[in-house]
Amino acid sequence: MAREYPIERVRDIGIVAHIDAGKTTVSERILFYTGVSHKIGEVHEGDTVMDWMEQERERGITITAAATTCFWTPTYAKDNKGQDYRINLIDTPGHIDFTVEVKRSMRVLDGACVVFDGVAGVEAQSETNWRYADEYMVPRICFINKLDRTGASFDNSFKSILDKLNPNAIQMQIPIGMEGNFEGLIDLLSGKVYRFEGVKGEKIIESSDIPEDYKEQYKEKRGKLIERIVEHDDTAMGSYLEGEEVSVADLKRILRKATLEIKLIPVFTGSALKNKGVQLMLDGIIDYLPSPADVLPAKGTDPDSGAEITRLATDDEKFSALAFKIAADPFVGSLTFFRVYSGVLRTGSYVFNTNKGIKERVGRILRMHANHREDVEEIHAGDLGALVGMKDTTTGDTLADPENPIILEKIIFPEPVISMRIEPKTKVDQEKMGIALRRLAEEDPTFRVGGDAETGETIISGMGELQLEIIVDRMKREFKVEANVGRPQVAYRETIQGSAEAEGKYIRQSGGRGQYGHCWLKVEANEKGAGFEFIDAIKGGVIPREYIPAVEKGVKEAVERGVLAGYPIVDVKVTLFDGSFHEVDSSEAAFKIAGSIAFQDGVKQSKPVLLEPIMKVQVITPADFMGDVTGDISSKRGRIESMDDRMGVKVIEALIPLSEMFGYATKLRSITQGRGSFSMEFSNYEPMPNNVAQGIIEGKAQK
Ligand code: GDP
Repeated sequence: MAREYPIERVRDIGIVAHIDAGKTTVSERILFYTGVSHKIGEVHEGDTVMDWMEQERERGITITAAATTCFWTPTYAKDNKGQDYRINLIDTPGHIDFTVEVKRSMRVLDGACVVFDGVAGVEAQSETNWRYADEYMVPRICFINKLDRTGASFDNSFKSILDKLNPNAIQMQIPIGMEGNFEGLIDLLSGKVYRFEGVKGEKIIESSDIPEDYKEQYKEKRGKLIERIVEHDDTAMGSYLEGEEVSVADLKRILRKATLEIKLIPVFTGSALKNKGVQLMLDGIIDYLPSPADVLPAKGTDPDSGAEITRLATDDEKFSALAFKIAADPFVGSLTFFRVYSGVLRTGSYVFNTNKGIKERVGRILRMHANHREDVEEIHAGDLGALVGMKDTTTGDTLADPENPIILEKIIFPEPVISMRIEPKTKVDQEKMGIALRRLAEEDPTFRVGGDAETGETIISGMGELQLEIIVDRMKREFKVEANVGRPQVAYRETIQGSAEAEGKYIRQSGGRGQYGHCWLKVEANEKGAGFEFIDAIKGGVIPREYIPAVEKGVKEAVERGVLAGYPIVDVKVTLFDGSFHEVDSSEAAFKIAGSIAFQDGVKQSKPVLLEPIMKVQVITPADFMGDVTGDISSKRGRIESMDDRMGVKVIEALIPLSEMFGYATKLRSITQGRGSFSMEFSNYEPMPNNVAQGIIEGKAQK
């Protein structure tokens, strides 16, 4: 089957934004204008198309990173048949607890439209997301939204992008009017004036009459824009300097190339809520963001030889794809969203999951549209789809042609920093809870399920309070499991700062067959992030081969429960260098216990310390409350990293222990009379000060 859309007419893009900047509203308008959504839903009415998960609607935030397909014919090509494009909209979450999902979606999208609030300009999280886009070298355009709001300023918002994010952002349009009087846009390249009529702005009124008061501004800004564009092309630069007119088509071509190389960033504007400008931004997506064929070939490694392989984005290449999202689905159980990097995937065929080393059969392939799902026979290079019924594939796995396996670049996920106890309400819930939690953990690689070995309770952990809250909520709604949850706890860890040699002896000889296990271990601090390492340095068979894995097993079990407060021990190196055995009494069980005794003793002698997660926090506050905010940060054992002025407010960046951040939203609100805001993300683990650590250790001991 031929592909419906040549790859040049496909766009895999994401809408990226700080929470509340209007990502949901913009996405919704996109779906409406692209003809998929037949009804414009407002966020506050809880009727959004993208947010199809129930509690997303209630909370008004977007959690999933699923992909939706829609179609767009550029405004300027309305009469020109055969100029429509397929846009695969990859949903990216805006909330801080889901930073990982933003990163994950950056990995699979080719271009992004970054949405800003026209009153606030660049906000904390937009900066973080922008840096991720830089990290993944994602070409982007901007959309300054909410120009209708009181206090909105295109100029200030645009300036904040230049100052805070990238000096190569370029203004593509001039808004006509502002705030309550915002009525339309002047396109600087074409000189066309656009107004949006009809109930939902679907009727575009185009003219060439630039309003009198805007003529001068138009001339000046257009000149500036053209100057910035021709800089990227010698021929055009030549003509420009000669005083010749460079054609709009040429300008667009040069700008496209410069945008793909992230040398220029086109900035569009409008008001999604008031239905102005979104269509022109869609044109921008088509004109300036890459098709899958424009990006570098996918890189990966041969799982057998480890050699680097690249795959071109064409249908003729061997099949390779990345599973980037597993979503529980009310109709088909679970959906595995994937992006095809090369080749074609057909139903009825087999794929090799290179990460797991297993083959899976391709049953159904779905393409998700805003309001319906389409069963398709095949999915081509550069496209996105969802597989039904994959058993062992989890987020981040590569799917490949079984004869030509490849592992695409892996996505690295941070370890969870927060945990809470969860208890089923009834016996029936108990059985269902295990299944539900396992399914949810498959979807979200930063969500973990574990148990407390002593109490037998189930413990869930993740990256933030909100993430865990939502998981408990989904368990209730989607799996009908009722559960009680404990208070969120910080996921502390333990490590050592010294080294020691320690002996472990487990010898019992009272009648019948005895027990004999005996070993010597050297316990040392390993490099930060290096994890756990076990080295067998036994010489001359002082411990027989068959018992050595048992020693390692005993040590590994002890690593899970630290000596200070029972938290897992990280970054430790253990060398087994001596011991003895007994011909009759030695057993694996005895050596396992000996290993664990020696390890615990070794750790106690090696300056054990508690580690706590430190968060990178950004607080924005009016200057009046600056002193109170910084004072409060200091009282939270916080370290202030920087303080900046940004358009009349203060921006404070600080490193603060997670344990001090519970309830901060309420606290900040009360300190700043509701005017401050903050965002945070995990930074690193650090040793805790002794006096604070002591409190945790004693608290644990009392339980
Ligand atoms: P998200 O959190 O980024 O997905 O943002 P939403 O789309 O949920 O928008 C947040 C709030 O801003 C909602 O109350 C929207 O109605 C409102 N909003 C979105 N776009 C605009 C706009 O262009 N103008 C105004 N005045 N409000 C908007």
